[in-house]
Amino acid sequence: MPELPEVEAALEVLRTRARGRTIVRMRVLHPALRRRLKPAQLRALVGARIARVERRGKHQLLHLDDGRILHAHFRMSGDWMLTETGAPLPRFARAVLDFEDGSSLVFVDSRALGTIDMHPAGAELDLGLGPDAADPAWTAEQLAAALAPRRGPIKPALLDQRLVAGLGNIYAAESLWRARISPFMRCNALEGAQVAALRKAIDAVLLRATGSRYTDDDTVTLDVYDREGLPCRRCDTTIERVVQAGRSTYFCPGCQTAGAPKRAAPKKAKRVRGAR
Ligand SMILES: [Zn+2]
Repeated sequence: MPELPEVEAALEVLRTRARGRTIVRMRVLHPALRRRLKPAQLRALVGARIARVERRGKHQLLHLDDGRILHAHFRMSGDWMLTETGAPLPRFARAVLDFEDGSSLVFVDSRALGTIDMHPAGAELDLGLGPDAADPAWTAEQLAAALAPRRGPIKPALLDQRLVAGLGNIYAAESLWRARISPFMRCNALEGAQVAALRKAIDAVLLRATGSRYTDDDTVTLDVYDREGLPCRRCDTTIERVVQAGRSTYFCPGCQTAGAPKRAAPKKAKRVRGAR
């Protein structure tokens, strides 16, 4: 699943291979995208030049020279692929932008949950995003203030793009592991030092993932995500998986102890009536 580092890597592709190019045609191949982009909107793209590209959280904004914005979001499995116009399209191609120089940018998306929208020039875009997780100006104090009114557990809160923009299921789990904070800890119970550790951990986790295209590429070593049943890299305790707010949470019960709920004593063998 693409999160901030992967979307930033996709932006790099757009900066080098789409910025400055003029669109000669946009084709939409998947019905879900056809519902979002009407034929008239696609026709009106002809001749528009991509002036600049911008990342906001996990959203990608392609600013056209006339002020319109093509707004892409990868969601679960989207990605860009580059090809030559007229070349066979990759599997799961959902939309294609053809440029005047004979190159094409293909939106590929196996799960087909990704979105592309068009915003008119001058539109106020409210994406409902909090501070960007990669913004060096985002402070631990700001994070603490945002957590203070929240009573729920910290892990699902980190996925809320209004709290912080750019984190997803993978790097939220990694950040909590790094900061030794239990995913169950209530947001408003985090102390100042713990919030500071979390803020630092988010930085470190994103920095380590910088340049990665997709985490399933093995380009990034993960400490806790998707490691259920494996020994913790820090304390050797077996990593566990639980479901929180409908998403898998991976954590180490041995060293992510800050805010962890009291655990029931290990289950004893059932006593059989009459047995000693
Ligand atoms: Zn551990």
